[in-house]
Amino acid sequence: MIRNIIFDLGNVIFNFKPKHFLRKYTNDEEYIRKFISNVIRSRIWLKLDRGTISIKKAEEEFFKKFPEDREFIKTFFIYWMEMLTPIQENIEVLYDLKSNGYKVYILSNFIVEAFDYVKKKYDFLSLFDGKVISGQVKVIKPELEIYQKLLNKYNLIPEECIFIDDVRAFLSRAKKLNINTILFTQNTDLRIELRNFQVDI
Ligand SMILES: [Mg+2]
Repeated sequence: MIRNIIFDLGNVIFNFKPKHFLRKYTNDEEYIRKFISNVIRSRIWLKLDRGTISIKKAEEEFFKKFPEDREFIKTFFIYWMEMLTPIQENIEVLYDLKSNGYKVYILSNFIVEAFDYVKKKYDFLSLFDGKVISGQVKVIKPELEIYQKLLNKYNLIPEECIFIDDVRAFLSRAKKLNINTILFTQNTDLRIELRNFQVDI
């Protein structure tokens, strides 16, 4: 019997669409592609996710690495968190799960400063019964330890959990621990997927 629903944040609870966001600042698609690969898919960004450097420090590292992009990087770091807007249909699912007696948790690779930002901005985050945020615990998905941290911290039985993520590789690791999984994509109807597990929603 399913009792616990575990949510990823990026592209499950909050939109995270850098390409779309960067188009506000340039129409140079090649520049956008490079920027995403240099900054958002970089090892420095992974360190942010892991909470081993601050955003301020990361920004300095990016300035050093890409001096010609300094102004663009600066602008990006002022505004990027604004792209973290709620995915409304899933927030409604979240409310319904709570009122139907399920426990809800967060398991996310998320930068500490960004989590503080969304926490201040969006009340619905207080609905969650618990959370493991990579930047806070210094471990990232798909490392097994981060899944175990969540299970142990809240005494969860894996078979009673469903983990929802938009990244297949993060789900396969959860499956290894016997956690049930749902891949969330743009075409996913989360309610239907949850009902497949006999969740009352
Ligand atoms: Mg995600």
